[in-house]
Parts: sequence; structure tokens; C-alpha cells
Amino acid sequence: MAPLDLLRRLTANGIELRARGAELSFKAPAGALDAVTVESIRQLKPDLLRLLDGSTCRWCGLPMARRGTPAVSLADGTSLHGECRTDFDIDRIERAAKRGLSSTLTADPAEVVVRGELDAIEREFSR
Ligand SMILES: [Zn+2]
Repeated sequence: MAPLDLLRRLTANGIELRARGAELSFKAPAGALDAVTVESIRQLKPDLLRLLDGSTCRWCGLPMARRGTPAVSLADGTSLHGECRTDFDIDRIERAAKRGLSSTLTADPAEVVVRGELDAIEREFSR
């Protein structure tokens, strides 16, 4: 797994990884870290440290010094090239929106009925 993909997966699972000098520290919900994930973190530690200390772009994975655009520093210590920020923000908003859509809600037939009849309901209430 690529370091960026691993970091995105960890973040999506509520696992917060930080660089503390040459070491990684993390906060994770109970049961979120399994042995396979821990081994992946161990194998990719140098790459993860470069992402988490802000020397590698969190979006494109290229060194921050390689591009001449201003850097954007994020609260977790990671960085983005200025030109990567829009794509990063769009991805973040899309992920948050998907989390807001529960699959059990969208599979609820009652919701489909309400959706299908929304125009009729609006006409009814606007009388
Ligand atoms: Zn970038």
C-alpha cells in the first residue's frame, strides 16, 4: 500500500497519526488498529514520517521543496502544495458528505417514497 493511501485509510477509520521527532504516535478508537495495520505502519514509517512532518505533500506525495508554490500547513503537521489544496479540500468534503449518508437510510423504502413525492408534498403545503 502506498503511504498516502495508508494515511487516508487511517484517517477514514478515525486513527490519528502524528510525527514526534523520528517516532510515530497515534490515537485510535478501541479495536481500530489490527496487527496488519500496525505492520503496514511499521513498514511505511519513513514515508509516513515525511508526510507527517510536512516535508512531503499530503495530496500528491511529492517533496514540498520540489514545487515553487506556497505551502499550506495543516493542523496535524502535514503540508500541501498550494496548487494541491483545492483537490484535497474537494476530496475531504466529498468524504464527509459520504459519511453523512447512512447506507441504512438510503436503503429505507420510506425515504424513496418521500423523495419521489417531494414535489407533490411541496405543492400540498404551498396551497
Ligand atoms: Zn502536492
